[in-house]
Amino acid sequence: MHLARFPRYRLGHFPTPLERLDRLSAALGGPEIWIKRDDCTGLASGGNKTRKLEFLLADALEQGADTLVTQGATQSNHVRQTAAAAARAGLACHALLERRVTNQGADYESAGNVLLDEMMDCHFDFRPEGLDMNAEAETLAESLRSEGRKPYVIPGGGSNPVGALGYAACAQELVGQADAMGLRIDHIVHATGSAGTQAGLVAGLHALNAPIPVTGYSVRAPREKQIDNVHGLALRTAELLSVRGDLPRESVVAHDDQVGAGYGQPTEAMVEAMIMLARLEGILLDPVYSGKGFAGLVAMVRAGAFAKTDRVVFLHTGGSVALFAYGHLFQTQKAA
Ligand SMILES: *Cc1c(COP(=O)(O)O)cnc(C)c1O
Repeated sequence: MHLARFPRYRLGHFPTPLERLDRLSAALGGPEIWIKRDDCTGLASGGNKTRKLEFLLADALEQGADTLVTQGATQSNHVRQTAAAAARAGLACHALLERRVTNQGADYESAGNVLLDEMMDCHFDFRPEGLDMNAEAETLAESLRSEGRKPYVIPGGGSNPVGALGYAACAQELVGQADAMGLRIDHIVHATGSAGTQAGLVAGLHALNAPIPVTGYSVRAPREKQIDNVHGLALRTAELLSVRGDLPRESVVAHDDQVGAGYGQPTEAMVEAMIMLARLEGILLDPVYSGKGFAGLVAMVRAGAFAKTDRVVFLHTGGSVALFAYGHLFQTQKAA
């Protein structure tokens, strides 16, 4: 794997820290839990989309684009980081926000990520739930083209093989850090949505010949569908990277038991997990993605999935900006 073969526009602060969580590990009674701080990528409050956007933005600029077009849910962290990337490179940004969540109170459509989208001059329009949002984005790009603009369409979550290169890069960075510290990593756990994060990690670890198991906690799709999505994208990413050797479907592990009532719908386990990490380690998760991913890790620990001496890395994918659209969840919470 040789990532310098691909154009890249530097947007983030890398490497992100890899930290041991002593108080959390003690409270759970082992394993030894570590956190990879991709919430600290540095781009307009950070998150996992920054890594993908380094490769996507470079591709857009190579193609002569003057406008980024993308889509996501109303409180999309991806749209916010895309708006920031566009600002940084002097491009316009247009986004379509899908009303996928409509029951989370007055602030949901104006606070958090939406506020930051406005600040960074992202032009956004809402769409009702259930449309083919990538097709809607293509239609928007077509109308921008007819006005003489040069749009570059980034799929939801930045999840195509070019975007997933960002997480192949993360795999390389993480293994490099672990090797330098003499840290054996036994397992990686994170939240999975549009699939690019897990696909890039799986393809990257495969390319590095570093067979660390990765478990993704779906925030939306049922398990088999999520595994198919991740596996399909991992194969295409491995091909782009010219990785040799098979990447079997069994190398992708995902669960859907933390989704709850649906995308962006709070669960008790998520709220408990978020409060636990905030109070033990001073680290903020988000209610839609990383909170559910972390709840999955806590559930695995409690179910005895790890040995006490295992070293487990939670990949923090960011998203805490969305907390401000979900204030009601935490303002009513009694002390744990
Ligand atoms: C987008 C996102 C994810 C999911 O990553 P995918 O690559 O879409 O699977 C996880 N956490 C946060 C905070 C996100 O914004």
